[in-house]
Amino acid sequence: MKPAAPALAVLTCLLAVAGCQSQSRVYQAQFFIFGTVLEVSIQGVDEGAANAAFQELQQDFQAMHRDWHAWEPGALVRINEAFAADRTALADPSTVELIRRSQALEKATEGRFNPAIGAVIRLWGFHTSDYPIEGPPPPPAAIRTLVDRQPSSLDIRIDGSTVSSSNPAVQLDFGGIAKGYAIDLACAKLRALGIRDAVINAGGDLRAIGDHGDRPWRIGIRDPGGGVIGSIETRPDEAVFTSGNYERFRQDATERYPHILDPRTGWPVSGLSSATVIAGDGTRADASATALLVAGPNDWARVAQSLGLSQVMVVGDDGTVYMTPEMSGRVELREGIEAIVVDPGGAQP
Ligand code: ADP
Ligand code: MG
Repeated sequence: MKPAAPALAVLTCLLAVAGCQSQSRVYQAQFFIFGTVLEVSIQGVDEGAANAAFQELQQDFQAMHRDWHAWEPGALVRINEAFAADRTALADPSTVELIRRSQALEKATEGRFNPAIGAVIRLWGFHTSDYPIEGPPPPPAAIRTLVDRQPSSLDIRIDGSTVSSSNPAVQLDFGGIAKGYAIDLACAKLRALGIRDAVINAGGDLRAIGDHGDRPWRIGIRDPGGGVIGSIETRPDEAVFTSGNYERFRQDATERYPHILDPRTGWPVSGLSSATVIAGDGTRADASATALLVAGPNDWARVAQSLGLSQVMVVGDDGTVYMTPEMSGRVELREGIEAIVVDPGGAQP
């Protein structure tokens, strides 16, 4: 078999932005992980410290890519093989923690976020970085067969560093949460290295630590219909994540089938085109944004509430923008766009 291409590379380093004092310079590096470019910006340290931090992150991201990838040969593929064969497998501490966090989020979303549906995701052809995929959906009977086996991360038993599954249909796919968790671990590492001011941005999904000196980090939120729908100024220690149905999908002559599936049916979500979440950490923000797309126009506000999220914006397939009262104080929408404010505790839309 052909060896896998290098998983990750530092593409650029060091971009000096305004200011003569080295402490006010912003240092940037890009990393490639799970098919996404992660851009790390660091401020408030000198060049040597910034470079040392980038070296550490490079190694960490490489390990995460190797350990959590759903289809490239690595630790997770071996764990999934063990589950299917009713064997135990060893998992490193961060993978165990990722399983624990996933279990809690699957519970809190009543199964809308379910990282155990890897077999259904594979059946749809979504184990690829090459989008769009061309062709009709898989046979409905094949989808039904997999869904009927009811894979759930709650079937997984954790015993120290050993994991096993009581349900051989469990196939972990961390595509809806790994980016958030990777960003959280990277923020923790930067903090441990004494860096207090940084932002990690994965194509619009980001987490900031510190406050970027005297001006906040500002992030644009993509409009499912094209361009930018609005922007948010991030506060220290916040994560902002958006899940959308407009970027990665399968398509045939008549329809588009986005890569986020409703675990209860095995079919792609519909009704909402994007969901944006502000939360205290990336793991929660990432998985929640995925779950809210599954929840759809009728249930997103209730699911947000059971996740304890007060800052959520969703865009319907017809372009209508809905947001929670607290989110409306955070998002600056593009001129001409009006949002419908929905109080999750109050009446439903
Ligand atoms: P993106 O990676 O495009 O930002 P998401 O964070 O929403 O989007 O993750 C989508 C990925 O999550 C899919 O490619 C798939 O690997 C996985 N996934 C799809 N549906 C679900 C679901 N209901 N629960 C958990 N993970 C899912
Ligand atoms: Mg997600």
